[in-house]
Amino acid sequence: MTYTKCGSKDKSNFLQTAASEQIQRHTDQVRQGLDPCYLPACPHCGVTPDYFKRHEKRRRIFKIILAQVLKTVLGLLSRWKCTGCNKTATSYPWFALPYKRYTLPTIRAFNQAYVEDPAASYRKLVAACPLVYETSPDSDSNREPMMEHSTIHRWISTMGSYSSLVQNATGLILQADPASSLCRNLAGLKISPRKYRSSSRKQTLLTCFHLVFLMPLYQVIFQTGIFPKLATLFGYT
Ligand SMILES: [Zn+2]
Repeated sequence: MTYTKCGSKDKSNFLQTAASEQIQRHTDQVRQGLDPCYLPACPHCGVTPDYFKRHEKRRRIFKIILAQVLKTVLGLLSRWKCTGCNKTATSYPWFALPYKRYTLPTIRAFNQAYVEDPAASYRKLVAACPLVYETSPDSDSNREPMMEHSTIHRWISTMGSYSSLVQNATGLILQADPASSLCRNLAGLKISPRKYRSSSRKQTLLTCFHLVFLMPLYQVIFQTGIFPKLATLFGYT
């Protein structure tokens, strides 16, 4: 299978995904009532998650990429109920984002490829990554574009909207390592002016760039990812 080179990114890195085993493991835990609750204290009444009750299991179809084959995996997410005010909320595992079917590694990899490479465009990224859909015996086997280019635009909008998360993750890293060159490094991340027409889009792109930059750093320092706990704490904002 051949494809055009996509920016400067290694393709294997570019097509990252959560493994179906990871989704299955989480789903089994949800089914058995053993998955951890990643929710923070209730924003409405302050009750801590120790007092939350399992409310319901929500189905979510995840899209994952295995050897350039796009597959769907049915997973379960837990909804929890606050015993103080009866409000409910979904707890997302590390690989899931609210309202997204593709998993975090895929979304992050595409977003990173877009913001890092001044020459990248949404259309080029989509065109560079043709995938084969998993086929069932009674369906036609067609190669289709993996996604619309607008999908990547929306992924950028999503991660680029997590400004509280970026601000707080930056603050935590600086607290842990005050001598770090993080501020200088973040200031050095630039977005090509070709990629935006408004200052708000520029800010969205920059926030997204900061987040993809911070994720591995945070992981190394705190031995845990920004997702899901910190992201949940700031309500994916
Ligand atoms: Zn509550």
